[in-house]
Amino acid sequence: MRVIVAAALLLLLANCERAVDLVPWKGQPGSTQPNAVGLVTLPCDASTPLEPTRPYYCRRDRHFVTPPAREALVTAAKAMRARYPGEVLRFMDASGPDGEKPFPPHLSHGDGRQIDLGLYYTDVKGRPLDHFPATDRYGGYWPAEPPRPGEEIACPNGRPARAEKPDPPANRPWRLDEARTKALIQALIADRRVRRILIEPHLERRLGLWGHPKLRFAGCQAARHDDHIHVDFH
Ligand SMILES: [Zn+2]
Repeated sequence: MRVIVAAALLLLLANCERAVDLVPWKGQPGSTQPNAVGLVTLPCDASTPLEPTRPYYCRRDRHFVTPPAREALVTAAKAMRARYPGEVLRFMDASGPDGEKPFPPHLSHGDGRQIDLGLYYTDVKGRPLDHFPATDRYGGYWPAEPPRPGEEIACPNGRPARAEKPDPPANRPWRLDEARTKALIQALIADRRVRRILIEPHLERRLGLWGHPKLRFAGCQAARHDDHIHVDFH
């Protein structure tokens, strides 16, 4: 009996943690005053249309960027909301407070000039999702949009160790919102503070952006970039 109660309690706690994680993060407004190494923090209080995909990124101080990168991201988030009322721009890892590269587990993040951004999604009927897809029951990785039959498979031999993340199952409840994802990328590449964006080739083609000088494939040693995009700033 005692074991059952303990197990139930653990389950409850685990669920509480998850529930807390799913509540929109109303944390700090972020700082526009640079710290000792010249970095500021992204707003985590919903005062702008910019928010973390999970509170973790704000709570664990993984949201440090340079002042121009912060401005560019807030500008892109506002452009998305102006075009799609109520919409937000969701971010993942940026850099830590010390400005040191690398910023584990990333090889390239750390000096405030990089960030990973979430893509936009619809349900299977093409209706925009108002939340970031929960992937727990579908492999647990970030919500990927794998190549369709006939589209280019960038790494037919897979990727090494940690970089390898399998395609999500066909019965996943999300699909890529191509219009919104393209609008975000267009807003970013039009911004001179943005140096380049890493994206998988099949999405670059599908979105009609193939060959843009700011769009690059990260290579098969890096993580897949059809479940997020990586943005480098000047
Ligand atoms: Zn990245």
